[in-house]
Amino acid sequence: MIGWHVPEFGKIEKTPHHEPLEGLDSVKIKLTHALITEDDVSLICGEDKSVKTPFIPGRFGVGQISEVAQESAFLKKGDRVFISAVEPCGRCSSCEGGKPDNCYNFNVAGKTVNGFLKDFATTNLSNVFALPKNVKDEDAVYIEYVALALSVIDKLNVKKSTHVAIIGGNVFGSILAQVLIYYQAVPIIIDDDSESLKHAKKSGIYYTAASNSRPEKEVSSITGGRMASNVVYVARSGLNTDLAYKLAAHNAPIVFAGFSYPNLRIPMNIAMAKQLDTFCINNGYGNYLSAINLLANKAVDLSSYSLKKTSMPDLVEAIEKQIVKFNKKEHVDNLLIDLLG
Ligand SMILES: [Zn+2]
Repeated sequence: MIGWHVPEFGKIEKTPHHEPLEGLDSVKIKLTHALITEDDVSLICGEDKSVKTPFIPGRFGVGQISEVAQESAFLKKGDRVFISAVEPCGRCSSCEGGKPDNCYNFNVAGKTVNGFLKDFATTNLSNVFALPKNVKDEDAVYIEYVALALSVIDKLNVKKSTHVAIIGGNVFGSILAQVLIYYQAVPIIIDDDSESLKHAKKSGIYYTAASNSRPEKEVSSITGGRMASNVVYVARSGLNTDLAYKLAAHNAPIVFAGFSYPNLRIPMNIAMAKQLDTFCINNGYGNYLSAINLLANKAVDLSSYSLKKTSMPDLVEAIEKQIVKFNKKEHVDNLLIDLLG
């Protein structure tokens, strides 16, 4: 069995890798697809100093059950599944107090434990979620993002017709906006990349604004001068964080959302003047079933974000290109890895 690991930061290479079944709730999965995003590339490049090499990257993975340690009523050999990237530690005071959602030491795939850039994964049944037939692998790799969007919405005050400014129009920004529309809110996506805004429009998001041409004016006109009563800043958007605070109405919650943590600065003067609440959300734990249901119900349209597959022989070269781009601070595209090809 094989994996691709990071022997030292900035490098990726193929390596033998084997994970045996452990315990009665253990399940083995033949991985079929993995998604590598800028979040993964930032970890490969050593941005997060808490990460230790060597490790197998890849936060997003789907596959098919190949072996179960013990028969389960819910999952059996051959089932297509999504594998949760985060697992509560089971040892911190939140976990021991029966609140694993608030665990402050989550095991995270591709970060604190090995990720999904490998042919087989072994995990606990509780981390595995069956995929309905109409949710294809190419969409299922985004379940982490849909779950993150749901965690973000939990922090916002979203009612019917509530305006939510989303700073960052990448695929996560678009997914969040689509889920907000499903809940009858009114998202406004702001980005400096016209292609991203075009994709968002195509995915059914009505309001978009260019970050480089007076977005305050645009948001003011959309909201009738009230500005956005909720704001989400996409952590890897690369946009100026001041925007999030300028577009916010007084007393609005501002949520920073993402799986990795670029060192961002907050304009405290604006936050103080408007008495804004800042929250941070870095995972979608607890929302996977709802996320899968949203995809099954076609509440999220990912057709504008379909990716060309990268096969295993091309994987190292493709990720090396991403590493070069990340180090040059250029935009890093998502890579859909075909772990069968
Ligand atoms: Zn914990």
